Amino acid sequence: MTDTIMHTADQVMAATYKRFPIVLERGQGCTVWDTQGRRYTDFVAGIAVCNLGHAHPRIADAVARQAKKLVHVSNLYYTIPQTDLARMLVEQSFADRVFFGNSGAEANEAAIKLARKYFKDDGQPERFRIVSMEKSFHGRTMATLSATGQDKIKHGFDPVLEGFSFVPFNDIDALESAVDDHTCAVMLEPIQGEGGIRCPDPDFLRQVRQLCDRHGVLMILDEIQTGMGRTGKRFAHEHYGVTPDIMTLAKALANGLPIGAMLATERVAAAFGFGSHASTFGGTPLVAAAAVETLKIMDEEKIVDRARETGAYFKDELQRLKLRHRCIAAVRGKGLLLGIQLNGPVDELIPVFMEKGFLVNCVQGDILRFVPPLIIQKSDIDALIRCLDNVLTR
Ligand SMILES: *Cc1c(COP(=O)(O)O)cnc(C)c1O
Repeated sequence: MTDTIMHTADQVMAATYKRFPIVLERGQGCTVWDTQGRRYTDFVAGIAVCNLGHAHPRIADAVARQAKKLVHVSNLYYTIPQTDLARMLVEQSFADRVFFGNSGAEANEAAIKLARKYFKDDGQPERFRIVSMEKSFHGRTMATLSATGQDKIKHGFDPVLEGFSFVPFNDIDALESAVDDHTCAVMLEPIQGEGGIRCPDPDFLRQVRQLCDRHGVLMILDEIQTGMGRTGKRFAHEHYGVTPDIMTLAKALANGLPIGAMLATERVAAAFGFGSHASTFGGTPLVAAAAVETLKIMDEEKIVDRARETGAYFKDELQRLKLRHRCIAAVRGKGLLLGIQLNGPVDELIPVFMEKGFLVNCVQGDILRFVPPLIIQKSDIDALIRCLDNVLTR
């Protein structure tokens, strides 16, 4: 059965994904099982998506209840779950208004469109350029890949959208030179995820904020990977004492159901008036109900604090491991967005970890990334550390 599924998938699906040869069938908490009955502790979590683990009973119930009531209506009408979700996000953030889409890329599309529209409405149509960071990742649609600072993402899709330029992450002088009176926004991730779990220097985000204020340009933070408690604060910018004008969320917001959100201050969001932007499925009741339940559980179970504590423990353990293994060049990240950089390629190690019952993932060729559910137990971390210790000894 397993071979047939893999074979069929390889025949009938666009070959965009290089997949590992397992078929995942079910999950429970931080564990997933494949069709052969093998179990894995999941340090990938759908790439920082399933923060509360798999098959969470309360989220499953919320989805089932909503599915029996109302799955979808048009955004021509008000619905309760969508309104509840927007209100909760506004209460928990700097933002005054929320626009819902279905993915990270769509949230960033909305952010890019809003930044341009804001200056058009303001009588400065020449301000349409966005400065973003080298090694950034903002998505795969045409606008978001244009905003992404990695050539491999753009390869074959020229011409990209006009109006994007890139400066090295953590280089405030380069940013100062790049921003001019054609710039509408600076767009960046507080911690670069796909770029290799790269943290900002302690002052960098504050300097970016000041630079944006000085030049009258908007600051867009892509918190799609770093948001929702992943780094040990609800949003990563809270670590650095800044707030953006626009923030995007997606991945973990509904614990695995597809959603994206763009949040903005009243002043900026005002540029999105009637008819300026829309999405058929954006914030549809089914998905919004899952997100509302996710946010409730996060609060009740103090998931953000837990991520901070477990993340600190995990990072300490990785740092101790680094002392024993010269092949570890660096330990990176914050909270439960962690990685180790190895001297050499990581790709061939991934199947070894799978063999031993752990799903981990590789970014930028030489970094092992760990983004488990935020409910991961110390005992699971201890088991992974023992496994890393073993594998890296060889
Ligand atoms: C995953 C990710 C995206 C893209 O999200 P999709 O839902 O795949 O479109 C954008 N930005 C960051 C920082 C991400 O981690």
